Amino acid sequence: MELWQFKVQDLVENESSLFSFKVSAEDIDFSVEDAQVVSPVTVDTVLFRTDKDVFVDAVIRSVFHLECGLCLTSFPQSFETNFSIRYETTDNPELVDDPLMVVGLRYYVGDYIDIANDIKEALLLEIPHWPICAEDCRGLCAVCGQNLNEKSCDCDPSLLRPGKLADLAVLLGE
Ligand SMILES: [Zn+2]
Ligand SMILES: [Zn+2]
Repeated sequence: MELWQFKVQDLVENESSLFSFKVSAEDIDFSVEDAQVVSPVTVDTVLFRTDKDVFVDAVIRSVFHLECGLCLTSFPQSFETNFSIRYETTDNPELVDDPLMVVGLRYYVGDYIDIANDIKEALLLEIPHWPICAEDCRGLCAVCGQNLNEKSCDCDPSLLRPGKLADLAVLLGE
């Protein structure tokens, strides 16, 4: 049994059970191009079992390495996120792999619930669409590509005026 799997029978009915564990991105098979999870993912869960349902509250913390959308450098960003999901038992295995049909509801077959997919989904939702390394990131010079956070350059921004670009295209024979 993996850290992110719980045997329903082992949970005391009508009582909260607390489990905390750390996993790496590889452990739960999380890999996306836009964000590397660099430190272990800390998962704190509270499980509450009724007769056959299990309510899971999880808080997930870790650090992403992201690429700044302006200056293209890689930077760390810590994050914390959470989910609350009710797991209902079912005899139909097809229901288990279905995406959430009802928000906050999943199905499990047999004796175990497995929250790996929910951890992955929570991580995915945390990846910013447009990561920025700092609020005052100055980005790259559009002319020479210099990272302006590191040093400035002497480029003439008027070079980027559409007319000039058209001239340049003519010069280049395009
Ligand atoms: Zn930046
Ligand atoms: Zn420049």
